Amino acid sequence: MAVPSLFSRRFFRKPFTLFFYSSFSTTAATSSPPPIHVALTESVGRAVFATRPIGSGDLIHTATPAVCHPSSTRAACYSCLAALPHSQPHTVTFCSQLCRQRSKGYFDVEMKANWVAFDDYCRTHGLKYPLLVKRLACMVISGDASSDTLDILQPANLIPETVLEMEEEFVLLRNAFTKALIADEHIAFLTKQWYINVLARIRINAFRIELAGGLYEDLLASAVASVEAEAAVGNAVYILPSFYNHDCDPNAHIIWINNADAKLKALRDIDEGEELRICYIDASLDHDARRELLLRGFGFQCNCSRCLHGD
Ligand SMILES: [Zn+2]
Ligand SMILES: [Zn+2]
Repeated sequence: MAVPSLFSRRFFRKPFTLFFYSSFSTTAATSSPPPIHVALTESVGRAVFATRPIGSGDLIHTATPAVCHPSSTRAACYSCLAALPHSQPHTVTFCSQLCRQRSKGYFDVEMKANWVAFDDYCRTHGLKYPLLVKRLACMVISGDASSDTLDILQPANLIPETVLEMEEEFVLLRNAFTKALIADEHIAFLTKQWYINVLARIRINAFRIELAGGLYEDLLASAVASVEAEAAVGNAVYILPSFYNHDCDPNAHIIWINNADAKLKALRDIDEGEELRICYIDASLDHDARRELLLRGFGFQCNCSRCLHGD
């Protein structure tokens, strides 16, 4: 599904007309469906609305990642990103037999190939998102995901220089699979265009995951860790949470307790029919800093009431 403009989905303007209704599957935290619906508004903005009043602090829904990958500086479960304080970064570890089991398909594919060149390239260039593309490619090859998994998400507008940089990563990724003698029909989807399309979506939809919960030793370790150390356990892309628009004074937020399963929670009482919005950036930043970050990182100018009041 192509979304024509970067501005259209991410920012939603009233008045609106609902002409598209859809529900998306979420993790079955409760047996009842989540109290939300996703609507495409006349202004082409996709947005999430409450279908009933939601109380402050309530869990709206949870969501499992469409794709996730641990960061290279924190030891985390290779599957669910749970922090593993007794393991070393860079080593592939699973938090449980269940995680090992459910990763078996894509992990077996990944283990067939030599990733030294690709991983080195990402490390030296400080790139983390290509690791998500690599994971998704392995999931497609193993049959754990469809190659169009992320197509529903809005892509970033890419400048030609960025596309050129991506070509090198693509060649390294594709080579790793071809050298591993993975059959051509299994990697037919892996074209340069596919790589660029996926990365364009990851760039503006990936969440950097910092766990709120975790083990005591881990909290202690992070307290004494140097400030340069990456606090995030990894990055993940979700479908439904990506449909939430931004607000600098949001009524909902997304948190992670023990792993990459996202929890969407209400920050205040929400009325039936009210749009649910989260803040994509640090809401404590001042007006100019927010404006700069949102424009550079997400390609839109924020017109939330806080920004309109110059707050
Ligand atoms: Zn795990
Ligand atoms: Zn704003």
